[in-house]
Amino acid sequence: MRILVSNDDGIYSPGIAVLAEIASEFGSVRVVAPDVERSSAGHSITASRPLSYKPTRLAELTAYRVNGTPADCVSLGAYHWEKVDIVLSGLNLGFNLGNSIWHSGTVAAAKQAALLGLRGVALSVPAGAESAADFEPFKPWLRQVLRTVLGEVNLPLVNVNFPRHPRGIIWTRASVRRYDGKIVPAQDPAGRRLFWFTVTPIEGAEEGTDRWAMEQGWISLTPLRLDLTDAHA
Ligand code: MN
Repeated sequence: MRILVSNDDGIYSPGIAVLAEIASEFGSVRVVAPDVERSSAGHSITASRPLSYKPTRLAELTAYRVNGTPADCVSLGAYHWEKVDIVLSGLNLGFNLGNSIWHSGTVAAAKQAALLGLRGVALSVPAGAESAADFEPFKPWLRQVLRTVLGEVNLPLVNVNFPRHPRGIIWTRASVRRYDGKIVPAQDPAGRRLFWFTVTPIEGAEEGTDRWAMEQGWISLTPLRLDLTDAHA
């Protein structure tokens, strides 16, 4: 099995190294990721300038860095490596829950895989993990999640979030309540007005959703689809 690993935190994020390491137990892994952090890049693509694709040292793995977006990385990765079976995106340092799916670069990389007719899985852990030790508790759970989603061959796109202390895995739906986008005014040292666009939760989570799963300590697996058409309308 050919597993392409990408992310939006950039190729030097500790999260992508952990994901690539565990994914290697399931197949042949290649890493293609942005050269700098592109979090919240959403599904943007780089169409107005050319892209580079440069070999990069990342432990014992074959890895390439791209001066583009997460979606660019998946397209270039699939172009250079024929017959990719699945794209794993992450481990993102910070949740991708509810309506943040719309602007997540992590989910966009997985979504680009689905657009190319491949399968895509986005994986996110709580913000704050930095050292290798911080990721240790997630590794057995990550193995279990990969075993589960790799077996679900009919699901083109799955969004996975890990709570800080998981107690199990459940399937959820995406929360549609307002989750983030709270604007916080501030000042720079010269007294000029600035604004922080934050990811602070705005409304409470509904039971059975991805956000609710994080509150309850469950690893959340949300199957997503590409068709946004409102069939009833
Ligand atoms: Mn990110």
